[in-house]
Amino acid sequence: MTAQLINGSTLSKTVCAEVAMRAAALTKKGHQPGLAVILVGDDPASRVYVRNKIKACQESGLYSICDRYPATLPEAELLARIDALNHDPAIHGILVQLPLPSHFNRRAIIEAISPDKDVDGLHTVNAGALMSGAPRFLPCTPYGVMRMLTAVQIPLEGSQAVVIGCSESVGKPMAFVLLEAGATVTLCHRQTRDLALYTRSADLIVAAAGHPKLLTADMVKTGAAVIDVGINRTAEGALCGDVDFDAVKEIAGFITPVPGGVGPMTISMLLVNTIQAAQRTLKTYS
Ligand code: NAD
Repeated sequence: MTAQLINGSTLSKTVCAEVAMRAAALTKKGHQPGLAVILVGDDPASRVYVRNKIKACQESGLYSICDRYPATLPEAELLARIDALNHDPAIHGILVQLPLPSHFNRRAIIEAISPDKDVDGLHTVNAGALMSGAPRFLPCTPYGVMRMLTAVQIPLEGSQAVVIGCSESVGKPMAFVLLEAGATVTLCHRQTRDLALYTRSADLIVAAAGHPKLLTADMVKTGAAVIDVGINRTAEGALCGDVDFDAVKEIAGFITPVPGGVGPMTISMLLVNTIQAAQRTLKTYS
């Protein structure tokens, strides 16, 4: 069996076209959606992600600004900058690129972002809203995964789903979103004793561990949907996911590639969240 490929690059173009239309309509009403991205330090991967986010804004008609600071930036200055952006009417979404250099209190920085502008969905208000079943901003990666699953009409109600990785921005919110969609969800992590025990019976596997080729073909049920969130670098410098793609695609029913899978969808959903934030502002003032 060869799995059906879920092409994130193609789907993200469709999402961005919808975003561009909504951005143009808001701009016409004097509310051009605006995103501020803050990058602290010089992590090479973060630099690429930030560049891609700004480029996507420009291509879809969103206003964007990008602040770049050295890793030595004092935390108080970052908090002051976030506060200024919270009060800037041209900015509807604020994203602090993670990870931050180690001297920052990550939680304090996230909590400083207004929940109404928290387009990454990481503020406790938004994380709590997701947990209570009334999400305001879905974290971009799980949101993108859901758009991919919807696009190929993968049934989730009553399905068995396994999420590998339980980070705050990917694994945990992914599990909650799948739970809301009616899946029975198992959340696995580094301490999980026998990962294959869970994955082998899953209809859907979302791999988000940051571990190259963690999910091998013998761990996948025939016909399962396999979503690869992982972005890793091989020793040769190439990008690869958490899934042994060449072997798993012969077993799975659906599979996402890396690159060209979840990555572009994550960026598209950031734009969707920014549009949503701008739309809420418009409602507040009209
Ligand atoms: P993280 O390091 O915060 O969390 C990793 C999680 O995976 C942890 O819960 C850990 O317990 C678990 N884990 C690690 N090794 C494991 C193993 N051998 N077995 C089972 N569980 C294991 O990472 P993150 O921020 O959630 O990112 C995960 C991966 O997804 C990374 O490769 C990251 O680059 C990628 N990522 C991709 C996108 C995208 O848009 N495609 C977005 C965010 C993150």
